Amino acid sequence: MDSLSEVWQEVLQLCRDRVPVVLYNIWLVNIEPQKLENDTVVFVVNTDFKKNIINEKFDEILRQAFYEVLGFKVTLDVIVSSSSQDTSSESNESPVERHMQEYSFDNFVVGSSNSFAHAACRRVATVPGVQYNPLLIYGRSGLGKTHLMLAVKNELQKRNPDAVIMYTTGENFTNELILCIAEKSTAAFHNKYRNVDALLVDDIQFIQKKVSTQEEFFHTFDTLTNMGKQIVLTSDRPPKEIETLDERLRTRFEMGLIADIQPPDIDTRIAIIKRKSQQIEFVIPETVAELIASKLKSNIRQLEGTVKKLSAMYKINGLPPTVELASKIIEDIVSDSKPVSVIIDKIFAEVSSSFGVSVEDMKSDKRLQSVTNARQLAMYIIREVTGMPLTNIGLLFGGKNHATVHHSINKAEDNITKDAQLRVTVDEIMKNIRD
Ligand code: ADP
Ligand code: MG
Repeated sequence: MDSLSEVWQEVLQLCRDRVPVVLYNIWLVNIEPQKLENDTVVFVVNTDFKKNIINEKFDEILRQAFYEVLGFKVTLDVIVSSSSQDTSSESNESPVERHMQEYSFDNFVVGSSNSFAHAACRRVATVPGVQYNPLLIYGRSGLGKTHLMLAVKNELQKRNPDAVIMYTTGENFTNELILCIAEKSTAAFHNKYRNVDALLVDDIQFIQKKVSTQEEFFHTFDTLTNMGKQIVLTSDRPPKEIETLDERLRTRFEMGLIADIQPPDIDTRIAIIKRKSQQIEFVIPETVAELIASKLKSNIRQLEGTVKKLSAMYKINGLPPTVELASKIIEDIVSDSKPVSVIIDKIFAEVSSSFGVSVEDMKSDKRLQSVTNARQLAMYIIREVTGMPLTNIGLLFGGKNHATVHHSINKAEDNITKDAQLRVTVDEIMKNIRD
């Protein structure tokens, strides 16, 4: 495998967590960059339509992911060529499937922070549907929940190739259900989820506040457990902290086994760094591994990201993995993950003082022109600076919907292009926020 396609696999892996599964499978799995030239990544696709989608929907996400993998910023160039074919058709195994297989029990490092969850998952993968049903794994982001869940999936499938093992996310489950309700095809939905041998739902906390999804999940759950089918769930918090979770559902969750994953101790962190570098055939000096493990404590994804960046810097730019380089990469990772809420508060404060509109008014429904302008700009800046999804931005503004946010951001962009003075003000605000 050459280095660019290795980089691409890593970019895909990051995108997998950030793009709705359906979109990911439709748009991203089938493309692959052709070359990396002067910080420009070139993709060749076969239709204008695909090109537009990639430019409009994924440009930002892809650039961010490339940045995290490569450690430097790139631009994307999507070219349409009538002769190009989907690269995926060359192999009958998609990158997603290849990735799924990377998540095994064998490459999961066990330490005291995750040994209980690990043992429970192993047990369920060996004798499903009997003892721990449902099995719920909870823990903060980046601690290995999805890894364990996919390890269960792969192991179950390996032991029983004909079984239908369904993996989905709480978000995907919800979106599909909404689509089926709209198309009046809920029967198809029932068929799909109630005729499986095991159902694995990742990030189940997503269904909080969604009454119809909870109702549907409750019935799916009942049907499956009554037939002795295994259910595995993950959540970023324990069931009792999942807000507005239907009491019946909460009781069901608690009927099975609940196992938590805690942040790993230093020895486990070092072992993970070593394992991850071995996996990509990259040698990390002991001192560098220790440095990374001592600086990054709470998120394994960040440990892994650092290892991958070091490897890419070496393989692509020829830079050896020194303590200095590792410190620089860690610094970037840590500052990138500065709590977004802090940045958002700052944006609100900056916009408020620049335009003389209170934060409360920006978050309200008031339609006074000055308030509307400030609100639109604040949304625009939040989008630019944090890359947050529109729906989440809407929530910051008193629950405005996706379409409203979209419209407001377009409007703000329009105003900025037309008004040089405004452009200067916005640049200044952005600069203040970064400092
Ligand atoms: P979560 O779903 O809890 O947010 P993931 O399962 O996606 O976390 O884990 C993030 C990354 O860290 C993945 O690439 C995963 O392989 C890796 N990881 C987490 N825990 C371990 C572990 N104990 N051993 C090896 N890799 C791990
Ligand atoms: Mg996960």
